[in-house]
Amino acid sequence: MPVRDQPHAKELLPDAVLESPRRVALRDEVDVLVCGGGPAGVGAAWAAARLGARTLLLERWGQLGGVWTAGLLNPFFEATGRGWLGDELVAHLTACGAWRRWKFSHCFDTETLRRELETLLSGAGVELLYQTLVTDAVLEGDRLRGVIIESKAGREAVLAKVVIDATGDGDVAARAGCRYELGRPVDGLVQPLTLMFEVSGVGDWIQPDAPTLFDELTAAAQAAGLDWLPPIERCNYAPWIINTPAPGVADVQLTHVYRVNPLDPAAVTRATVSARRQAAEAVAVLRHLPQFADLRLTHTAAAIGIREARRVVGQYTLSLDDLVAGQRFDDAVTSCAFGVDIHEPAPGAGVPTAHHTAMRPYEIPYRCLLPADVGGLLLAGRLISGTHEAHASYRVTGTCFATGQAAGLAAAWAAAEGTTPDRLDGRAVRQKLQQQGVRLLD
Ligand SMILES: Cc1cc2nc3c(=O)[nH]c(=O)nc-3n(C[C@H](O)[C@H](O)[C@H](O)COP(=O)(O)OP(=O)(O)OC[C@H]3O[C@@H](n4cnc5c(N)ncnc54)[C@H](O)[C@@H]3O)c2cc1C
Repeated sequence: MPVRDQPHAKELLPDAVLESPRRVALRDEVDVLVCGGGPAGVGAAWAAARLGARTLLLERWGQLGGVWTAGLLNPFFEATGRGWLGDELVAHLTACGAWRRWKFSHCFDTETLRRELETLLSGAGVELLYQTLVTDAVLEGDRLRGVIIESKAGREAVLAKVVIDATGDGDVAARAGCRYELGRPVDGLVQPLTLMFEVSGVGDWIQPDAPTLFDELTAAAQAAGLDWLPPIERCNYAPWIINTPAPGVADVQLTHVYRVNPLDPAAVTRATVSARRQAAEAVAVLRHLPQFADLRLTHTAAAIGIREARRVVGQYTLSLDDLVAGQRFDDAVTSCAFGVDIHEPAPGAGVPTAHHTAMRPYEIPYRCLLPADVGGLLLAGRLISGTHEAHASYRVTGTCFATGQAAGLAAAWAAAEGTTPDRLDGRAVRQKLQQQGVRLLD
């Protein structure tokens, strides 16, 4: 029998479409709702469920991991020695044979991580809902009560005692009316976008550093009579050929597309198309190097990597000064020792950069996870409250996971107490995290 959905009434205006009010079905009501399943969302949902909260994770793609998996990212910075769920994840990947030391860090097998994140989160009781885009916020006064979602099932609502924005880009916070910043103060530009890609045929060759490979590639292209230059300036952050645990397989960080607004889908589409071409061209040049005669481009990432988008204004804004001072906080929820890694947003523009400013291991306070403007909401991952420069350090995945883990614990606690996260004592959140085994700087 054919079925027919009732179209929603709309009026066509000269420059817009006017939607009439409509009743949106309530799909679910949970204790903790995690929006986004990247490193931060994974940490958040896992922690909340582990502590007994009924937890739902919404994700627009059909997998967990965010940039880890859809973005074909490696290595995993700030992964080890963090305590609690971070340690459990590393131990699990090690037991699966999907973890290896790589130069100054560690790498994982992407497919194993993709699968095992589902094993670990489902095992903790997290309910997953894929192929679902969070499109709007449901507010009661200045308290967030839930979100509107869109999927093949249509437009629905999900309510929660506490919502965690782990979308990377701050979609939930923005829709809820939180203030946010985008890009560096001088011109609003964000770090360039990179489409990671995977190659086979690397053998056990390990790259010494980025400038050496840059020079070798440039020389090889010249010798072959190719009109090609690496799509980056000569620097220490790219190109990198990153060996994975799979023999001969590596993830490559090389493509760069500049001056892209990460919130404009047309700009991100153009960047993706351009970067995919950059990847193919780069592999053609790499094959001119004797060690890469058998190199093969197996695939490019499903999604271009966005390093930086909205940074939501929180109750505290972490700054470069905090990193330089190695700041500690009474309400610390995690720490970070990763340097200030700013891929230059506009090479040649002459804007001074804080890239690799000397810093010391520092802590991140709970207040960076609390939006300044809206209650019932926690922030996790690269969107937390910080400046362009500070973000360039804490954006690495181990630290994003750790902020997620902290948000998950706080959300579960607030939900159980029938309160909102901003009413919790941040020093007590710190203590509870330490009781779970989280290691801070002291
Ligand atoms: C090219 C590149 C290279 C990097 N290199 C490294 C590195 O070598 N090592 C390292 O540790 N870190 C690296 N980083 C940084 C790191 O990958 C990110 O900062 C980190 O993944 C951020 O984690 P997150 O969970 O906050 O966001 P993301 O990883 O971006 O995850 C966000 C998730 O939310 C989902 N989502 C977004 N919007 C919605 C919505 N509206 N509705 C539903 N779901 C939504 C997305 O699909 C995604 O799964 C790199 C980043 C990039 C882009």
